[in-house]
Amino acid sequence: MIPIAEPILGEEELSNVIKAVKSGWVSSKGEFVTEFETKFAEYCGVKYGTAVTSGTTALHLSLKALGVNKGDEVIIPTLTFIATANAVTYCNAKPVFVDSHPDYWCINPEKIEEKITKKTKAIIPVHLYGHPCDMDAIADIAEDNGLSIVEDAAEAHGAEYKGRKTGSLGDVSCFSFYGNKIITTGEGGMCTTNDEELAEKMKLLRDHAMSEEKTYWHEMVGFNYRMTNLQAAIGVAQLKKLDSFIKKKRKIAEWYNKYLQNSIKHPEMPWAKCVYWMYSILIENRDRVIHRLEKSGIESRPFFYPMHVLPPYRNNERYPVAEELSKRGINLPSSPNLRMGDIKKIAEVIKIEVENSCSRTRDR
Ligand SMILES: *Cc1c(COP(=O)(O)O)cnc(C)c1O
Repeated sequence: MIPIAEPILGEEELSNVIKAVKSGWVSSKGEFVTEFETKFAEYCGVKYGTAVTSGTTALHLSLKALGVNKGDEVIIPTLTFIATANAVTYCNAKPVFVDSHPDYWCINPEKIEEKITKKTKAIIPVHLYGHPCDMDAIADIAEDNGLSIVEDAAEAHGAEYKGRKTGSLGDVSCFSFYGNKIITTGEGGMCTTNDEELAEKMKLLRDHAMSEEKTYWHEMVGFNYRMTNLQAAIGVAQLKKLDSFIKKKRKIAEWYNKYLQNSIKHPEMPWAKCVYWMYSILIENRDRVIHRLEKSGIESRPFFYPMHVLPPYRNNERYPVAEELSKRGINLPSSPNLRMGDIKKIAEVIKIEVENSCSRTRDR
């Protein structure tokens, strides 16, 4: 079976974990946590990193630090993983959905302004499947309307917008280190920012808002969202490999692009460096293709359902682009350890199904 994604862990991850265990610092105090935060922030080109327990808690913590509260609205793309919407809901705020851009699948900036109300506090652009959003357009809208930007970069470590790295493109940016993400700590997440006050607020809220001066004194309700030193030990080793993972993932995309026909390829805009968290295609007869791939020992996944069709978030508005993408999209195997032969094999299975579906259309 060729899996859709698998973590690549080696000797350095292991020896770091052993070091952490031997030091006795297995919880959230420990040198690896600080090292991981510092180095990850540096990688993104910002000053502060706050390591947390997941990408979901990174989003929740960011919104809380920005003061998103009951009755507020936060704009998100309808086509995303549900964690983006849930983080807004955890603040007792309302996620407001925007359709996708047909050319690169992320939130369509032209559809944002019509969704802004007096209650809107923030926008969460999601760099879907590793492709960055059009951040200049989004920043202009945010500035005109006094909104904060929280980047959801859970799928886009190291991706670039006009040469600037994700993690540096919002007021706060959120990453996930879940097992199938570009780098992993098992479970884990990170908030990055250049804003010292926000960074301090996030560090405080992450630790039950406990006063630094007065032990067990809490001025407000915080959370336990602390990353452990064991996770950070793995993270430090993974971060060193991030650039080589990205290079290989872009190579894999090049192979897919070579073997697949133009009309179904994963897009990359001229202003973007996509990191292809999951190399993805758009195809008719999507479910047949998934089935045929499975029979050939190849794992694949359908795109996310848009939020507006899911029971907790259902509404009656239309989001035609997201609906179409969700119906036709497939994520293909994208791990850095795949070889050219694997990609060729996958592309051949897809090609057969595409040709079959063309001939069925002709016969009709
Ligand atoms: C994975 C993911 C998250 C959540 O990350 P977890 O670490 O699984 O909590 C949030 N947003 C997007 C777009 C994701 O893909």
